[in-house]
Amino acid sequence: MRFSRLLVPTTKETPNDATLASHIYLIRGGFIQSVGGSGLYNFLPLGKKILDKVRAVVKDELDKAGCQEVALSFVTPSSLWEESGRYEKYGKELLRFKDRKNNEFVLGPTHEEMMVNLVRQSVKSYKQLPLNLYQINLKFRDEIRPRFGLMRGREFLMKDAYSFHTSTEDMQREFALMEDTYKKIFTRLGLEFRVVEADSGAIGGSGSKEFMVLADSGEDTIVVCSECEYGANIEAAVAKPKTYDANSEIKIITMNALYDDGESKIVHFALPLSIELQDVKACNALNANELIECEESDTIDTLVVDSSLEGIDSLSANHKLYADISSVCEGDSCIHCGSALTYTKGIEAGHIFQLGTQYSEPLGCNFLDENGKSVPMVMGTYGIGVSRLLAGIIEQNHDDKGCIWTKASAPFDLHIIISNIKDEEQVLLGEKLYEVVQDRGVDVLLDDRKERFGSKIKDFELIGVPYGVIIGKKLKDGLVEFVTRDGLVKEEVSVQEIESFLESRF
Ligand code: ATP
Ligand code: MG
Repeated sequence: MRFSRLLVPTTKETPNDATLASHIYLIRGGFIQSVGGSGLYNFLPLGKKILDKVRAVVKDELDKAGCQEVALSFVTPSSLWEESGRYEKYGKELLRFKDRKNNEFVLGPTHEEMMVNLVRQSVKSYKQLPLNLYQINLKFRDEIRPRFGLMRGREFLMKDAYSFHTSTEDMQREFALMEDTYKKIFTRLGLEFRVVEADSGAIGGSGSKEFMVLADSGEDTIVVCSECEYGANIEAAVAKPKTYDANSEIKIITMNALYDDGESKIVHFALPLSIELQDVKACNALNANELIECEESDTIDTLVVDSSLEGIDSLSANHKLYADISSVCEGDSCIHCGSALTYTKGIEAGHIFQLGTQYSEPLGCNFLDENGKSVPMVMGTYGIGVSRLLAGIIEQNHDDKGCIWTKASAPFDLHIIISNIKDEEQVLLGEKLYEVVQDRGVDVLLDDRKERFGSKIKDFELIGVPYGVIIGKKLKDGLVEFVTRDGLVKEEVSVQEIESFLESRF
């Protein structure tokens, strides 16, 4: 590709709403463009190219694992969501609308209902199972606070896969296969990541794991063991239980629990004095949507006591239950090996769930087993935030000058810069190298613009192609420069050797 023909509107200006490196550089590097409405982006040629590369890695590994790609309608009839019971439950993130005939629809934020509907119409017998179907398609979630560019958009690209099985064992086999497949995907993309135990959120089900791209800017706090493999989102983390006795001090926290149906109630939580309440665990214990702070109240109607206090506390209430509602602290002991736990930050890039029959039962997605009995299929569901991955790659790979794309995600393999387009010798060499490497299948960008050298270098640094060749003033002495974007390491190579040098590199 010739830079002179490329639509890549790079800019020096940092968007006002941008704080994360990935957000700043994806905009400044001309990869994406905000559409005005928050959380909506256009992908410009380079952004689209990277998205396609990431998507291709995801597709390749899934296909190798035996998954099949489909494409589901983005506009989803509300009736399917009513069948599953999620129409109300999903809350305001679900964008609902009507067509001219007054039929109600939603824009799919996730596609369990749609995929179950596809399968219940086309699969009847155990002989057709197992099945793992996926798509790489748009999702829409009317996020309350869209932010950080591609990290938390409202419209975004997700790979969502759904598997269907005759038994829980077979679903668990597939779940393990998907965990393995995801590890291959994230490794190929050049990411540093960690697989952690997770809370299952609005998708439901039990036994879920998240794939966290490690980055200080990540929105998720993850608890990791300093010795063994254990890792968990703080929302789901557990530590070795501490022991308390009847003399241990207890604190009571009062909160207002909000429910799907708009109801709310005052709830009290009892914990050991030194332990913090974990909101997500607390919500799960009550099946509530959200907890908000409220004034203390004297009447204790509903009381949730942390399980570490079971058999010790002497509290009473009309409704009393025990549940793990405690936050794990740094320094707590690992439940597996007893070593110290620490916190780190991650970006949730993938999430895999063991669903069971949570959707197949209400939607009547059944199959006839070997005895001719009709039973619901056992399901798993597996997501990857494909567009979020672009942000994740840059959060992990950038410097103060711009992006440093990993090999598998880079928009080009090589970036050749002709410093001065008026210098015939430079142009001749640039054009020749461009042809030669291109013929060998290297995806190369040739900066043949009538721009100042300084701005060409700035664009090279900002765009972040992993390698560059600078044809500049030293050509007079028979030398060009080979630059590795990561670290901006420069090597001088003689003109006679540059072709074979590039051949050995690419
Ligand atoms: P989060 O906790 O970050 O809101 P989630 O748990 O709601 O995400 P899932 O329902 O698990 O998301 O969706 C699967 C994947 O889709 C996530 O792991 C994430 O990579 C991606 N994703 C979710 N929401 C967004 C968003 N608003 N913008 C971009 N990617 C997203
Ligand atoms: Mg998730």
